[in-house]
Amino acid sequence: MSGVVVAGGGPAAHRLAARLRRYGYAGGVTVVGAEPRPAYNRALLGSVLDGRLDAGRLSLPALPPDVRQLTGVRVRGVDRVRRTVRLSDGRTLPYDVLVLATGARPRVPTVPGLVSAPGRLAEGVRTVRTATDCRPLSEGPAVVLGGGVRGVESALALRRAGHEVALVHPAARLMDRHLDAPAASVLADWLADQGVTLHLGHRVGEYTPGKVVLDDGQVLAAGTVLLCTGTTPETRPARASGLEVREGVVVDTRLRTSDPHIHAIGDCAEHAGTPGGTVLQAWEQADALARILTGRGTPYTPGRRVLRPHTPGRDVLVLPAAGPRPAPDPAESVALLDRAGGRYARLVLRDGRVHEGIVIGSASAVAAVSRLYVRDTPVPSDLLALLTGADGEYEGDGQPPEEAVVCHCNNVTRKALTDAWHSGAHDQPALAGATRATTGCGSCTSVVRDLCATLAAAGTAPEAPFGGTP
Ligand SMILES: Cc1cc2nc3c(=O)[nH]c(=O)nc-3n(C[C@H](O)[C@H](O)[C@H](O)COP(=O)(O)OP(=O)(O)OC[C@H]3O[C@@H](n4cnc5c(N)ncnc54)[C@H](O)[C@@H]3O)c2cc1C
Repeated sequence: MSGVVVAGGGPAAHRLAARLRRYGYAGGVTVVGAEPRPAYNRALLGSVLDGRLDAGRLSLPALPPDVRQLTGVRVRGVDRVRRTVRLSDGRTLPYDVLVLATGARPRVPTVPGLVSAPGRLAEGVRTVRTATDCRPLSEGPAVVLGGGVRGVESALALRRAGHEVALVHPAARLMDRHLDAPAASVLADWLADQGVTLHLGHRVGEYTPGKVVLDDGQVLAAGTVLLCTGTTPETRPARASGLEVREGVVVDTRLRTSDPHIHAIGDCAEHAGTPGGTVLQAWEQADALARILTGRGTPYTPGRRVLRPHTPGRDVLVLPAAGPRPAPDPAESVALLDRAGGRYARLVLRDGRVHEGIVIGSASAVAAVSRLYVRDTPVPSDLLALLTGADGEYEGDGQPPEEAVVCHCNNVTRKALTDAWHSGAHDQPALAGATRATTGCGSCTSVVRDLCATLAAAGTAPEAPFGGTP
C-alpha cells in the first residue's frame, strides 16, 4: 500500500493528515510541503505583521509521529498512469490516493517597477502570504495596494505597528466585493480615524524604491509596498497533469478531481464553481475528505460561512447570500446607518431568517446576528434591538451564554473556556493551549480576552496547570 500523499503543507493538508489518523486510517500518510516549516495558521499572519505574535507561535499542533512530513519540497509533477508524484528534490513517491492542497499564491499586478526580474519582487515590495512575507517591516512609510479584506487588515496591522500607512484601491469603495456603499463609507471613516490615508479610485502607475506614483501623478513615500491584490489558486501540478481546472482544480461533492484517484481541498480546489479562500472552508473540506477516505463519508456540503475581517476595535460582519436572492420585499429587509457613531447594519430576511447582511459596530450585534445566520434560526421580533446589540443576547456579565460557541473554528463554547479557566488557564494564550480557541481565524480573540477579564474580576484563580498567568 502506498497510502495517501498530500501535496501542500498548509492548514488544509495538516487537518487532513490529522483527521485521517483520528478516523482510523492505517495506511501511510505523507505530507509534502513547499515551505521550509510544517503547517502553520496562515489566517493569523496579520498578528505577525503588527508585531503582536511571533511567527514561531503560529504553528499548528504536531501531527501524529506516523505521518511523514517533508518540508521545503515541492510536488513538481504527477504521473497519473503510474500513480507517482515527482518531487523537487528528485525523489518519486507512489500514491494510492493523491490529495492536492496546494493553496493559493498572491497575484502581482502589472505595475512598472514592482518586479525586478521574472518571479522576483523589487526591493521594498512584499506580498502577504507566508510567515516570511509578514516578518515585521523596517521603519518607514508603507503603501498597501488593494482595499479588499487583506488590504484593510494589513493597513490596520501596520498602523498598530506604528507605520505611516497609505492604502491605494482602484474601486471607489473599500472591500467593494463585500460591502455596499454605506458600509464601505463607515469603514473608510474608521480607517481614516486610525490614521490610514486612503486613496480610493486610484491605481499605482509606477514604483521605484522609496516611492510610488499614482495614476493622477501624486507621489507617495513608500519604504515598503505591500501587495494585497488578491490570490490565484495554485493549480500548476493539476494543470500539468491534465486534470480539469477552471479557476481552481474542479472537484465534485466527494472532493474528487477529474481523476478518481486524485482529490483537492482548500484554496486550490473549486467546488460548485467557487474556489476556496478561507481557513474554515479548508478545514471543513479536509475533515469531509478524511471521512470520505475512511468510509464514514457523506458528500461534502459546505456550511454557511461568515466573513469577519480582523479589524480590532471595530467589529465587521459580512453574511453572503445564502442561496439565490429573494425578490426585494421591504417587509423582509432592515437597515440602519449611524455614520457618526460608526455603526451600520443591513439584513435581508427570508421566511423570518437571515438571508444575507452586513453589520458594523456593535460586537454583541455582530455575535448575535452571526449566530442566527449560521444556525439558520428565526430572528427575534425586535430587529432594532438585535442590530444595536440591545436585545440582551449577552446578558448579565456582558458575556455570551454558556452554550454559545465562542470559537467557531474549533467549536469551543463559553462553558469549555470557563471550565479551562477554572482549571488554571487564565489568559488568552493559556486558554488557546487548553481549548484551541483563538487558534483558528482569530476573530474570537477579543471575546476570549474579555472573558478572562470578567472571570478574573469575579473570583480568585486557582493554580495554573496550563502554564497560564494566574
Ligand atoms: C494574511 C492572511 C490572512 C488571512 N486571514 C484569514 C482569516 O481571518 N480567516 C480565514 O478564514 N482565512 C484567512 N486567510 C486565508 C487562509 O489562510 C487560507 O484560506 C488557508 O490558508 C487555506 O489553506 P490551504 O492549506 O488550502 O492553502 P495554503 O495555506 O495556501 O497552503 C498551501 C501550502 O501548499 C504549499 N504548496 C503549494 N504548491 C505546492 C507544491 N506543488 N508542492 C508542495 N507544496 C506546495 C504552499 O507553499 C503552502 O505552504 C488569510 C490568509 C492570509 C494570507
